[in-house]
Amino acid sequence: AAKSAGGDRWHWFDPAMDRAADDAARLSAELRDAVTENQLVALYQPIVALPSGVATGAEVLLRWQHPERGLLGPDQFIPLAESNGLIVAVGRWVLREAVRQAVDWRTRLGDRAPRRISVNVSARQLTDPHFVDFVATMLRDSGLPPETLMLEVTETAVLAADTAVEQLHRLKALGLRIALDDFGTGHSSLSLLMDCPVDVLKVDKSFVSGATAGRAGAVIVRNLIGFTEDLGIEAVAEGVETPEQAARLHDVGYRFAQGYLFGRPMSAAALESLVTAETVAAA
Ligand code: C2E
Ligand code: MG
Ligand code: MG
Ligand code: MG
Repeated sequence: AAKSAGGDRWHWFDPAMDRAADDAARLSAELRDAVTENQLVALYQPIVALPSGVATGAEVLLRWQHPERGLLGPDQFIPLAESNGLIVAVGRWVLREAVRQAVDWRTRLGDRAPRRISVNVSARQLTDPHFVDFVATMLRDSGLPPETLMLEVTETAVLAADTAVEQLHRLKALGLRIALDDFGTGHSSLSLLMDCPVDVLKVDKSFVSGATAGRAGAVIVRNLIGFTEDLGIEAVAEGVETPEQAARLHDVGYRFAQGYLFGRPMSAAALESLVTAETVAAA
């Protein structure tokens, strides 16, 4: 039953809820086709070294070029894909596409290719019993050096499934790298580090914005970097938007960052131009 807007009684049929459900059902059906009809688009956001700002890698960020609704961001369809299970097919598409692109760059650009590609993985994918085998087969067939692939998982995703930690260990055994995404926004950030084979902490944008906006934020980013250094983990600051933030992060020891200041999510071709222009400039 749903409560109608403004009403004080519970109704079994609420037209607004009905429409929302219809809409979700339609979008689900369309998303199924989107995978086979090539409507998914992989964008790439540079991950850069500090202080140079030179791209060392890129994170794949998914979009859906919907035939009527235009370009949709992940927030508009990933939660739906997670709830209806389509995320498994969508996630496979993203991984295949990322690996294909990474191999293409390495073949054509050699040393100038982005060194690392990061791919987001959600809880539902991590609990798919075939996920690890899928990744293993894909790596083997593509010939991509496993250490150039990084999988990003959130604390929430790891906590959502009891098999997640074990799956992460099996993935790690394939030689790839694992990042804990949006670090600090979940509930048991620190305890996860004891159980999970984490190579990289992606320090959430909220702390990065806070770094130049008050004492607490500054203390948190400074202490997080010391903490990752002691653990032998790399830190990437997410959501860097201003030169002041970048300078502060570098001052306290951050060596890697990502954010609109350095580049928005862009097409593969645009990322390629960016990295090749940078290597030419550096030569
Ligand atoms: P995320 O993995 O934490 O990715 C970073 C998000 O922050 C991206 O949003 C990116 O565009 C945005 N961002 C980067 N720099 C800045 C900045 O300087 N300022 C601001 N305001 N935002 C910045 P996007 O592309 O909308 O993705 C949102 C989330 O959707 C991602 O968060 C990730 O959790 C999820 N996602 C994206 N692609 C995939 C995918 O292929 N698979 C899965 N499972 N999830 C995905
Ligand atoms: Mg991410
Ligand atoms: Mg993040
Ligand atoms: Mg996020």
